[in-house]
Amino acid sequence: MCAPQTAWDHCVEFHGHSCPGLAIGYRIALAAADRLGVTFSEDEEIVCVTENDACGVDAVQVLTGCTMGKGNLLYRDTGKHAFSFFNRRDKSQVRINFNKQIKKDQDWDKEQFQNYILDAPDEEILTFSEPSFELPQRARIFNSIICEQCGESASEHKIRLNDDKKLCLDCFADYSRGW
Ligand SMILES: [Zn+2]
Ligand SMILES: [Zn+2]
Repeated sequence: MCAPQTAWDHCVEFHGHSCPGLAIGYRIALAAADRLGVTFSEDEEIVCVTENDACGVDAVQVLTGCTMGKGNLLYRDTGKHAFSFFNRRDKSQVRINFNKQIKKDQDWDKEQFQNYILDAPDEEILTFSEPSFELPQRARIFNSIICEQCGESASEHKIRLNDDKKLCLDCFADYSRGW
């Protein structure tokens, strides 16, 4: 985890701008680190399941080290401002949801809303619960298979069989069009 006084700046730099959505992810990532007693995840010891693909995900990636590339950031699209965190070491876990209702009750502009999110106490903006799903498997390394039509290689779990031919999803889609 970055030093607290610069953590927000790191998030803004990575994301490209400051916004309320980024602030939501920032607060959730800090709260998760606090609750699970974790720091930056260098390997896959921390897994995050995000329920949205909005601005806040970038702050979570910067602060927790849960990233798409490492395979410890998973997307479960419910369209909610919720993130679940799993610690593989001690099996602790938490789901954190941002209370969007707060905004509706106020007459804030974007910047006021963002500043409020950055300063408000956890209990006022966040709801903590147990994730309703299991800890995901560790990222698996799959063999690569060469598609027999286009010649590009793809992970074996993304290859489809058509008339005994191994096809990538692009070529398989061509075959199945019109069915
Ligand atoms: Zn943004
Ligand atoms: Zn192909």
